[in-house]
Amino acid sequence: MLIVDSHLDLSLNALQGNRDLLSSAYTTRSLERSTPGPGRGQGTVAFPEMRAGRIALSFATVLARSTGRPEPHIDYAAPAQAYGIAKGQLAYYHALEHQGHIRVIRDAAHLDAHVAEWTAWDFRHGDEETGSTPPLGIVVAMESADPVLEPGMLREWWDGGLRLLGPAHFGPGRYAGGTGCEAGLTELGVALLAEMRRVGIILDLTHCSDRAFWEALDRYDGPVHASHTNCRVLNPHQRQFSDQQIRTIVDRDGVIGTVPSCWQLKPGWRNGDSNASVSLADLVVHIDHICQLAGTSQHVGIGSDLDGGVGREAFAHDLDTIADLQKIAALLADRGYSEGDVSAIMHGNWIRFLRRAWRAA
Ligand SMILES: [Zn+2]
Repeated sequence: MLIVDSHLDLSLNALQGNRDLLSSAYTTRSLERSTPGPGRGQGTVAFPEMRAGRIALSFATVLARSTGRPEPHIDYAAPAQAYGIAKGQLAYYHALEHQGHIRVIRDAAHLDAHVAEWTAWDFRHGDEETGSTPPLGIVVAMESADPVLEPGMLREWWDGGLRLLGPAHFGPGRYAGGTGCEAGLTELGVALLAEMRRVGIILDLTHCSDRAFWEALDRYDGPVHASHTNCRVLNPHQRQFSDQQIRTIVDRDGVIGTVPSCWQLKPGWRNGDSNASVSLADLVVHIDHICQLAGTSQHVGIGSDLDGGVGREAFAHDLDTIADLQKIAALLADRGYSEGDVSAIMHGNWIRFLRRAWRAA
């Protein structure tokens, strides 16, 4: 079963975390045995595991904030620094593409060819373990628009491969209010949305404050999605989306990528708590909720956010590496989902979403 994962911070891990994604996650764990820091020695994402898990396509971020609240390796003192870091992260993807490890997917024809090659490969190999797959596909996404010096520069990012953009991250940002704040769009944010629409960049609503969420929807009539968000009704925290927000994304024919991280699945779970009580079955509860709200399985997928600042200690306990996302298919089938529904959730919905957005452009 092919998987599309709608949120991975690949370049942040490689460059700011100094992880060689070409080596197995287990090798990196052993190298990091005595490295201090959250998630160190507990990594789950590397290309061998992505191939084993048949992650044919992922939305891979560039991520560098500049909110005025500097933090090492993530939030830079000035926008030009964030620009430089994010451009470096984009250059990393270009280097991997040049070496033949990945493909940066840029349009519908490219997407169709990539999916066809992986589908044929998957059909030939079934469940067999093999290291040789087609190149991993990525769609370049930006998490927090802070690296865009000014909206008029979006075209330059598009030319570099950027196709998806979430203006917000944590707290007030240059373009929009993010998780944990009440701020809406800034003046720059309003101009950014207009330019995104003009250039053809798809809006990711993840991390938007409630106010920024509704303001962005009012001002942007292009395709929208949430790359990595769960359901607020099951886990009452602003980071997750309310039923009304989910319904609105569904009405706009968007897709929501659900996240198997403990704190996003279980109310009250905090970093440092044991993950023993959290399993991928809890993720299926969130997936099912979105399907019930939508009345169909066409609007939900997986946006794992694995290695997004934490490691396997902060994800469902039955997930050791990204390859274990495959287990979700069987859990969905156990819950009564048909084969067609399962493949829609595992990969089909995201492929349809991208194809439709790019064909319309
Ligand atoms: Zn995030």
